[in-house]
Amino acid sequence: MNSEEQRLTARSLFEGLPDAVILYDRAGSLLDANDAACELVRRRREEIVGESFRHHVPAADVARLERAVAAALEDGNDHLETTLRRSDGAIIPVECAIFAAKCDREIVGFFAHVRDTAALHSAEEALGVNQERFRSLFEYHPDGIMELKGSGAISRVNVSLESELGFYGEQLVGKAWTEIMAPESRADADDALRAVGRGEAVQFDALLLDRLGNRIDVQMKLVPLVVGKQTLGAYAIARDVTAQRAAERAIERQSERIRSLYLVAAGHGESLDRQIEDALALGTRMFGFDFGYVARFDGDLLRIESACGKESPIVVGSVLELATSLSRHLRNRTVLDVPDLEAPEWQGDPLRADAPWRSYFAVQLLVNREPYGALVFTKVAPRGGPLDVHDLDLVSLLGLFVAAALERRLHAQRIEQLAFNDALTGLPNRVLFDDRLHQVLSTARRYQRDFSVMYLDIDHFKQINDQYGHAVGDRVLAAVAQRLRETLRESDTVARFGGDEFTVLQPIVDGAADAADLARKIGAALQAPILIDGVSHDVRVSTGIALYPADGTDAQVLMREADRALYQAKHAGRNRWRFANEEVARATLRQPRKTTERPSRPE
Ligand code: GH3
Ligand code: MG
Repeated sequence: MNSEEQRLTARSLFEGLPDAVILYDRAGSLLDANDAACELVRRRREEIVGESFRHHVPAADVARLERAVAAALEDGNDHLETTLRRSDGAIIPVECAIFAAKCDREIVGFFAHVRDTAALHSAEEALGVNQERFRSLFEYHPDGIMELKGSGAISRVNVSLESELGFYGEQLVGKAWTEIMAPESRADADDALRAVGRGEAVQFDALLLDRLGNRIDVQMKLVPLVVGKQTLGAYAIARDVTAQRAAERAIERQSERIRSLYLVAAGHGESLDRQIEDALALGTRMFGFDFGYVARFDGDLLRIESACGKESPIVVGSVLELATSLSRHLRNRTVLDVPDLEAPEWQGDPLRADAPWRSYFAVQLLVNREPYGALVFTKVAPRGGPLDVHDLDLVSLLGLFVAAALERRLHAQRIEQLAFNDALTGLPNRVLFDDRLHQVLSTARRYQRDFSVMYLDIDHFKQINDQYGHAVGDRVLAAVAQRLRETLRESDTVARFGGDEFTVLQPIVDGAADAADLARKIGAALQAPILIDGVSHDVRVSTGIALYPADGTDAQVLMREADRALYQAKHAGRNRWRFANEEVARATLRQPRKTTERPSRPE
C-alpha cells in the first residue's frame, strides 16, 4: 500500500467509524466531521465547517474543554463528559476524548472523538430506579416480608413485619424463620423452603408468633430469590389474615346459630306454643341471658304469655303495669338494649327500683302489622355492652319467627272460633258442644259423677221475626245468648244448637236439684224484657233436661232424651222445664232449698 492508498484507507476509517469524530485546526475551528458526528448533532457538514469548538458545548464546559484542547495541542490527550446541543434543540450527554491531529509528526490540530452516553445513562438510571422501586416495594409493602437465606435464616425484614410482630429488624435478622412460627406451622415452613430450593413458588397458611407469643393467622407466600441461575434464598410474604379468619369464624358461628333457629322454626310437628317456648330457650342460651319472655300489650297492661328460664321471677300469666315496664318502649321502637339498668340514663326509670334483673334486651313483635308486644330477654347480672350486629341480626330473626308463630296461633284461634263458634251469638256451636259433651262424659264415667244436659227453645220466636223482622230476631237471639252466658258458670257450656235452640251442659250435678236450680236461674235471667231499639221483647223458653247416668249413658241418648223432654215442655204449655224422666228426677230431688228464686211457672 503506497502512501496515497494509506491516506484513503485512513479516510475510510474516519468516514465509516460508528462513533462521531471531529477534526479541528489548531485555532479550534472545525475542519471536518464524519457522518456519525453530523448524525449526532443532526446538522449537515457544510453548516458546521468553520465553527469554533466553543460553540459546540455549553458555556459552563468551555473552560474545561479549552484545557483539554490545550493538552492535546501539547500532544497530550484528555477526556471529558459534557453535552452537545442538537439542531432540534435536544441536549445529548456525550463523552469525548480530545487528542492531537498530526501531519508528519507536526500537530496541526486536534480530534474530538465523541460518544453519545444517553443510552448508557438511561440504562444506569433505570437500574437505579428499579433498585429504588424494589427497595420501596420491599420496605413499604403492607404485608410483612422477610428475605431468607437458603438455610431459612432471616437476612432482612420490612417495616410491616416488624410492626406486626413487635420486634426490631435487628432482633430478627440471623434467626431461623421457624422461630417466629407457632410449632404447628414449622413442618409446613420447612416443606415450603425445600420447594423454593427447587425453584417453585409456594403458599401455605401459617401461625406467626408475635413478641408476646400471640398467634397471628397469616397466609404465607414464598418466592425464590434467584440471582443468575442460582437460588440464593427466598422472599417470604406474610399476609395477616387474622381479621379475615375472625370474620370467617364469625360467619360460621352465625350460620350455626341460624341453623339452630331454623331447626326450632322447622319444628312443624310441635305445637305453636312449644315452638315459641323453644325459640325463647334458644335465644336465652344463645345470647347469654337468664330469662326470656313473650309479653303482650293489652291496653295499659303487659301480659306475660310465655316465659323461659329456671326460677323466672315473672311467671306466665303475670299482668304488669305497662307504664312501669321497659317494654313500654317497644310500642314505638323495634329494639331496646339496656346492658346495665344501673347506667345513668336509666336512673330515673320508674322500674329501676324493683326490677329483678340488671340487663334487658327486647325486640318488638309485630303481629298482623300491629305492635303486639315484645320478645324480652333479661339477665340478673349486667352485660359488658350492647349486643353486636351479628347478635342483633339473629335476635331480630328470632323476633320475626316468634311473631310469625304468634300470628299463626291467632289465625288458628280465629279459624277455631269460626269452626267451633256460632257467628251470630259467639257461643260454641254444635260441633264444640258435642266435643265438650264427650269430654264430660268420659270424666263422669271415670269418676262416677252425674251431669246434666238441657235443650232450650225460645217460645214463639217466629212471632218476633214476623212482627219485627229477621234482623231484630237476630239481635234478640244474641241478647238471649248474652243472658245465658252471664247466668252460667265458667265450667258450664252453653251452645247455640241452631235456630232458636240452645243447649247447656252442666258438667257436675249432685242430683236433679242442681239441674233444676240452673233451669230456674235461666228462666229468671230471661224474666226481664229484652230492649231492642226502644221496643221491649218478652222472651220465654221451654227446657228439656236429661241426667247422666239416669236418663242415658251415651251422648246421643242423652241429647235425644233432653229433646223429648223439651217437646213435652212445649206440649205442656211452654215457659217451663221438664225432666226426661220425672220419676227419676223426683227420686233424686233433694229437699227444696230456701231460695227466693222460684220457677218461672211452677209445675
Ligand atoms: P215454638 O214456641 O214452638 O218454639 O215456636 P217458634 O216460633 O219459636 O218456632 P220454632 O222454634 O219451631 O222455630 C224457630 C224459628 O226461628 C224458625 C226460624 O224462622 C227462626 N230462626 C231460625 N234461625 C234464625 C236466625 O238465625 N235468625 C232469626 N232471626 N230467626 C231464626
Ligand atoms: Mg221456638
